Amino acid sequence: MFKPVLGIIGGGQLGSMLASAAKKVDIRTVIFSDDSDAPAKYFANEFICGDYNDINKIKEFSYKVDLVTFEFENIPFKTLEIINKDKTVSPSPKTIKIVQNRLFEKDFINKCNLRTTQYTYIKNKSDLNTIKDLMPGLLKTCTMGYDGKGQYKLNNENDIDKLEIDFTKDYIFEKYVNLLKEISVIITRFGHQRYEVYEPIENIHEDQILKYSKIPAKINHRILNKSIEWASILSEELNFIGTMCVEFFIDKNENLYVNEIAPRVHNSGHLTINSHNISQFENHIRSVCGLEKIKIKKLFNARMINLIGSDIKMYKDKKLVENEFFFDYLKKEIKDKRKMGHLTIIEK
Ligand code: ADP
Ligand code: MG
Repeated sequence: MFKPVLGIIGGGQLGSMLASAAKKVDIRTVIFSDDSDAPAKYFANEFICGDYNDINKIKEFSYKVDLVTFEFENIPFKTLEIINKDKTVSPSPKTIKIVQNRLFEKDFINKCNLRTTQYTYIKNKSDLNTIKDLMPGLLKTCTMGYDGKGQYKLNNENDIDKLEIDFTKDYIFEKYVNLLKEISVIITRFGHQRYEVYEPIENIHEDQILKYSKIPAKINHRILNKSIEWASILSEELNFIGTMCVEFFIDKNENLYVNEIAPRVHNSGHLTINSHNISQFENHIRSVCGLEKIKIKKLFNARMINLIGSDIKMYKDKKLVENEFFFDYLKKEIKDKRKMGHLTIIEK
């Protein structure tokens, strides 16, 4: 069977875990990152450092591989389009264009007749005069946000002037949801109506950053089925190839809302490395490289703890017990709010 050489854009922990999974199925990887210290260089067969806008470097990368995927969605659209002329980019740049922008993404989800929070587009400061009905809520940059970055909570109109908001950027304002729970569904799509879907994962965020994930999620059957159905609809409508994640809110009245789509492997799915026969990473590789689709099977219930900032210190030398799996992302510098590693605990 032909085994393509896979290019991966992005060299963080997701790139590392993708490269490790590729090795497992005998796929060679070349990582492209703008950070010369990117941890994924320890896991890939080859590593190229360059700016994501440097077309010459990008071409050098593209020349070395048969197809390209990525570990994060905030890659310049133009760069993805240029690569896509020579080598297939999966998932497609067209898909990424929708998901890169919170406004396009939410409009798309609503067009699929699925529920999101109430939101409105904010172009100028004066647009904030129209959002009284949506208060309290969150102002979120349309592009480049992650781990709660680029978000401002507004409880009432007085807060608008208290915060220094850069209005050269576009925003959406989103009504605050009284959360009962957050869950996510990870799905790998291989082609028309061909999926492997992981059961919903229950997530706890602290300071808008994911802190804990676990399966099974404590949710009722209606929400379990609905979340899986909605994730399938979204991946089909996006014509997605590879692994993606749909983040959901459940409010106190047990209504389900799509929060956002991550068009890539996702932090909440790290536990699939230890809980399932095939992880979200291996499934992504299988899908984009055209390898066999194998039915996924849960082997263990599991929970995951993200090690953020200096949390990592106490785990570096910790003696692990048999059902604990520690992942060190090998990042050079510990920074506040930076994801440094994770610990997965399986239930035997
Ligand atoms: P990011 O792209 O940074 O992950 P999200 O929109 O997913 O942005 O927000 C991060 C977290 O902040 C969510 O998982 C949730 O815990 C909280 N949050 C975001 N929007 C809302 C909202 N409208 N209502 C309640 N909580 C929210
Ligand atoms: Mg999120």
